[in-house]
Amino acid sequence: MDVLHDDTPDLRSLPQERLAALIAGLGEKPFRARQVYRWLHLRGAASLDEMTDVPRALRERLAEGTRLTTLERATEQRSADGTIKWTWRTRDGKLVESVYMPETDRKTLCVSTQVGCAVGCTFCMTGTMGLARNLTPGEIVDQVHRANRRLIELGEGEGPRPLTNLVFMGMGEPLANYRSLKIALDLLLSEDGPNFSHRHVTVSTSGLVPVMRRLGEETQVKLAVSLNATTDAQRDAIMPINRRYPLAELLRACREFPMKQGRRITFEYVMLGGVNDAPEDAERLARLLRGIPAKVNLIPYNENPGLGFAAPAPGAVDRFRDLLVARNVTAVVRRNRGTDIAAACGQLAAEGGPGDPRRRAAAPLTGTPAAG
Ligand code: SF4
Repeated sequence: MDVLHDDTPDLRSLPQERLAALIAGLGEKPFRARQVYRWLHLRGAASLDEMTDVPRALRERLAEGTRLTTLERATEQRSADGTIKWTWRTRDGKLVESVYMPETDRKTLCVSTQVGCAVGCTFCMTGTMGLARNLTPGEIVDQVHRANRRLIELGEGEGPRPLTNLVFMGMGEPLANYRSLKIALDLLLSEDGPNFSHRHVTVSTSGLVPVMRRLGEETQVKLAVSLNATTDAQRDAIMPINRRYPLAELLRACREFPMKQGRRITFEYVMLGGVNDAPEDAERLARLLRGIPAKVNLIPYNENPGLGFAAPAPGAVDRFRDLLVARNVTAVVRRNRGTDIAAACGQLAAEGGPGDPRRRAAAPLTGTPAAG
């Protein structure tokens, strides 16, 4: 089944104005479109049957001419620290993951935008999968709806939307699927939908420079850049995208990124033992970020089987942070969450699914090789 080339409109993927036009085309009044939209994106209805105050005749007509993306929960793993990792099954049987991270002041979902990833960062499990396909807008937003619904069932929050924050840092490079991402962001930020604040939504990129500019011009969400290196030689070796958009170009795009007063770009820095965790790296990093309103998240690497990288030596992370702070760079060490369920940064790979390298290690590789 080719989800991306199925001409039947997917109600969950339609921008609000297109849903309104579709329902107006059926001879219905505008308030009906709003009613259906709220069912889809505020209450996260899993089916048309749930829309009990929408007349049956309209629901039947919608069922005839459209479809409705609803992800199926394939697995749920709960970590001792409260993190939950869900694997969702798409209509065509692909598996994608989202990770829920509760903290005292926020409840964050890490959302996937692609099945696999073509960027091929050498330290990342998702990168070893290659890209199977982009997710549709409906598949992106439905991760949020299914998570909200499940959290309500688990007593993790009240109201239709327990989640407070979203980070697009799950499987995939979000900006490589910009068309779907932009529609999904509009749906998630809409007043009639979940109404997330753009201050609470962060999109992460490995450095797709031209699309970063577009994101800055077309949205007000926050930007995170997965940096992970302080020289081109280092970054070329671990993030092949650097050969296309080297550090100087990436950092220029960061300097030019349109931001509201008081906003900062988050730079993610996965600390790989013996690769990028030396004191000289901290000094270079501070120099590179000069002039950029920045915050650095230091992420001690989680060792993944077969990828050949090591966690930083004890003490290296704190020393690195202290060196940055001494150079007036805001830097925090990000506590790794959900490591016991492979939900931490760089560990998402739809475990047990066709793309799981831990499974593929036992079988010949047949998927798309990681590009770059
Ligand atoms: S770190 Fe991000 S961009 Fe790089 S391979 Fe993994 S998912 Fe893709």
